[in-house]
Amino acid sequence: MLAYRHAFHAGNFADCFKHTLLLELLAGLARKDRPFAVLDSHAGAGVYDLGGAAADKTGEWRAGIGRLWDAPALGPELDAFRAAVAALNPDGRLRHYPGSPQLVRGALRAHDRLIACELHPADHALLKAACAGDRRVAVHRRDGYEAAGALLPPPERRGLLFVDPPYEDKREFDRLVEFVARVHRRWREGTLALWYPILDRAPSERFARRVTALGIPALLRLELGIAPYDSPHGMGGSGMLIVNPPWQLDRNAARWLPELLEHLRAGPHGQTRVDWLTPA
Ligand code: SAM
Repeated sequence: MLAYRHAFHAGNFADCFKHTLLLELLAGLARKDRPFAVLDSHAGAGVYDLGGAAADKTGEWRAGIGRLWDAPALGPELDAFRAAVAALNPDGRLRHYPGSPQLVRGALRAHDRLIACELHPADHALLKAACAGDRRVAVHRRDGYEAAGALLPPPERRGLLFVDPPYEDKREFDRLVEFVARVHRRWREGTLALWYPILDRAPSERFARRVTALGIPALLRLELGIAPYDSPHGMGGSGMLIVNPPWQLDRNAARWLPELLEHLRAGPHGQTRVDWLTPA
């Protein structure tokens, strides 16, 4: 079942969180000259039209990138994120929003690579068109979990696995735990980033405990909650577990996450979290 379309949610508060982090992860990889590879296992359509029917139906982007777009001054990490969005909107009007593969493309150097997997036929076609002619990018209509098993570790050895599933399936957390264990066994130096939604607190806490129990070193957790958790109003926040984050990502995030919360909070509630689940 592939009911989920990211076009309804592109640019929302969770995208602002995950995409600022993605840019930080890419900046960390680009600190060294040696080439790196990124595997984006659940890539989406690449570019989203915020004036289109899907984005308009939910309007979620207005409380996400819409607020950052209009903010007078931002710290360096949020400013870098806004600049990456601005690169798609050269006339200064916010209309297009970059998904993860588009953001990765903006950060790749000539010798780096992106492998992007997207199963939905329509989003795969859009992504293929968005990446046409870019020889650094391979777009597959392929299960991202299966592709990661087949293609990792990359010959470059350096790189990022970015995992951003739709969580339509209740077993997604179970699948991820097993998947992380398998990938890390084969690619110990790789950076793995796993995004997760927070609706009820219990499932995401259990997920973090189970990944911690795998005994993988250097496991960092980051979360941004803009509304109360465990409320009937849906997703109040989201998080990312990162294996092998770049140097000082934790320190920097402890600064820009509260800043992001101030821009995006839905009311008096809100929280951020940066904690090491296992030491480096
Ligand atoms: N990563 C994108 C971004 O940040 O812009 C958003 C991805 S969206 C949350 C999840 C995507 O995964 C959807 O486009 C969905 O069609 C796709 N998908 C679902 N199951 C998949 C699978 N097993 N392999 C690859 N793609 C899948």
